[in-house]
Amino acid sequence: MGVVACKKDTTASTTTTTAPVPDVFKKFASTVMISSDGSYITLKSNGVPDHKSCYFANSDSRYEAYNGSNPAFAKNPNSIGTKNFVFKIPANPSVDAAHQPTPLGPIGIAVNGVAIYNQYAGPNQPLTGEINSFDQYNGHPDPTATYHYHVEPLYITLNLSKSALIGFLLDGFPVYGPLENGKTLISSDLDTYHGHTSATVDYPNGIYHYHITADAPYINGAGFYGTKGSVTQ
Ligand SMILES: [Zn+2]
Ligand SMILES: [Zn+2]
Repeated sequence: MGVVACKKDTTASTTTTTAPVPDVFKKFASTVMISSDGSYITLKSNGVPDHKSCYFANSDSRYEAYNGSNPAFAKNPNSIGTKNFVFKIPANPSVDAAHQPTPLGPIGIAVNGVAIYNQYAGPNQPLTGEINSFDQYNGHPDPTATYHYHVEPLYITLNLSKSALIGFLLDGFPVYGPLENGKTLISSDLDTYHGHTSATVDYPNGIYHYHITADAPYINGAGFYGTKGSVTQ
């Protein structure tokens, strides 16, 4: 697990506050380093997928020729690079009445440390064409070599489950797979931000959470439900 122990350095001249990291973050891969200052959970990741892809170099052991189910698959010219992501998400997420629109680029982080992007290929441009460049696990790299998911990360849902925790968006609210209580959700089951409030395995007292669906807008809808944190890379 990538959870950093709560440790006080009594000799340091500057004090860094550390707080316990909630157990739910143990669901992240050990490659993601996670800490908390009580206000924000910080997640550091290199953004490289923990699964094979046709976007690794042919000589790389992680290379796997496309073997997905899309007959229209067409590889884009980009490749997978190593990033220095630092996601800071609220430790106590709260609703934001402004519901800010999601930006292009990273809007969240999956449990394997890969970036989550929104439902657009460009400013308000649907993913229609981009979908054909998704690899066998539904991700692809952009021109900055950032590998990312716009839709269901198949490696995660195949290996964990269709109801698994998929990751968190920048507002600190969790994202779950499409299956809940035996039902496969579609966008019309969710609110305009693509979520709802109920108990989950990780939050038995209930929390707002997003769901991935097979239909657009896939992960997030009309903006963040909550007040967003930040991401640098
Ligand atoms: Zn993309
Ligand atoms: Zn739900």
